[in-house]
Formats: sequence, structure tokens, C-alpha cells
Amino acid sequence: MTDTPHTPAAPNAGIARRGILFVISSPSGAGKTTLTRRLLKADDEVEVSVSYTTRPPRPGETDGKDYSFVGISTFERMRDEGAFLESAKVFGHYYGTPRAPVIDAIEAGRDVIFDIDWQGAQQLAERARGDLVTVFILPPSRAALEDRLRRRAQDSEEVVRKRMAQADAEMSHYAEYGYVIVNDDLSRAERQLHHILGAERLKRTRQTGLRAFVQKVIGEQDG
Ligand code: 5GP
Repeated sequence: MTDTPHTPAAPNAGIARRGILFVISSPSGAGKTTLTRRLLKADDEVEVSVSYTTRPPRPGETDGKDYSFVGISTFERMRDEGAFLESAKVFGHYYGTPRAPVIDAIEAGRDVIFDIDWQGAQQLAERARGDLVTVFILPPSRAALEDRLRRRAQDSEEVVRKRMAQADAEMSHYAEYGYVIVNDDLSRAERQLHHILGAERLKRTRQTGLRAFVQKVIGEQDG
């Protein structure tokens, strides 16, 4: 990537660690999807959680990559079977985070990005007993948000209007998040995300291999 010089959020000297649950929320059009894509491209220890949804695919969206697109009865069956870590109704459609891929990733020391709304963030925080990182992306202004939504032009006028109304509601939850980034410059916002991820990876409690590493360094025997 030539347009976004930054230091990748490298893990600590190969020391084993627990993966991070990394939640990114924002109103539609604040740049969250672009930022998530950039983070994924720049850092091969992160992956994204692909949600299930009952909303129809937009042009250009791929099943299994952007979302797993399912019908309402499939969604409800999966939810009843406990297949989701969290689920919520957003803009009249169901969305849910599948449990199994997340557990596998975290145990393998990989970080998982969740592009979910405030309802999902609250549910995940309960599940993870607060052991998650939450970032809220704000647009620089309401006009910029509207402009981005309109230029995206994938939604009808009516949907754009509805989403602008929803944006206010979504933004009112910013104070429930641990970090807040104002996306007035995409490259800077990306660097800021890397900084957060980098610092969170160095938390002592997440570095499960630290004890063994220190014992080796100071020459002690285990026990
Ligand atoms: P969109 O339909 O524009 O892709 O997403 C609409 C909203 O649903 C966004 O705010 C997005 O973050 C949220 N969302 C997407 N997947 C999930 C999910 O699995 N759970 C929850 N709670 N929200 C989701």
C-alpha cells in the first residue's frame, strides 16, 4: 500500500497471545467498511467476522464474503440453536455473528474485527465479560455523512433518508465505546486504528506466553 504509510501493529516478538475481539461501529457511510478492509490488507493476524443477514445482497456483494445471506427461517433456526454470539435487528433485517469461527480465531491468537452495531457491541461485551476492544467511527460532519451515503448510490433515496435518521440514533451510542475516531482523513483514521490494535496486543493479560518468555530470559526453571 503506497498511499497509507504506517507501522503495522506488530505482535510482540512472537510471544503467544490471546486474540482480540475488535468491534468497530459507526453509522452507515462513516468509512467503517473501507477502514476494515484496509486493516485486513495491512495486517495478516486479523480477520473479519462474516455476519449472517436476512437483508438481500447489494450489487457487488458476495455471499460468504461480505455476508452470509440467508432467509428468515434459517436465521431464526440458527439463532435458536445458539449459533450466534450476538444478533440484532437493524433497519428491519436480522444480523448475527456466527460463534464457531470467532472462537477458533481467538484460540489461535488471531484478532477478529466485528463490523456490528451498538446492540451487537453490547451483547458481545456481556459475552466476553468486557474483554473486548470497541471503537466508534464518527463522520467529520452530518453533511459529509449524507454526501458519502448519496455517492455510494447503492441504496434508494428513501433508504438514504432512513439511514440518515438512523445515523443520529447510532451516533448517540458513541459513549459506550472505549475508543472514538473521527474519520476526516482516511489514512490518519487507519493509522489510529493500527495504534489501538498495536497497544491492545501488548496488554500483559493478553500475552499468554509471557511467563515462559520471561523465565527463559532471566534463566529460571519452571516452578
Ligand atoms: P449494512 O446492511 O449496511 O451492511 O449494515 C447495517 C448495519 O448492521 C451496520 O451498522 C452494521 O455494522 C450492522 N451489522 C452488520 N452485521 C451485524 C451483526 O452481525 N450484528 C449486529 N448487531 N449488527 C451488524
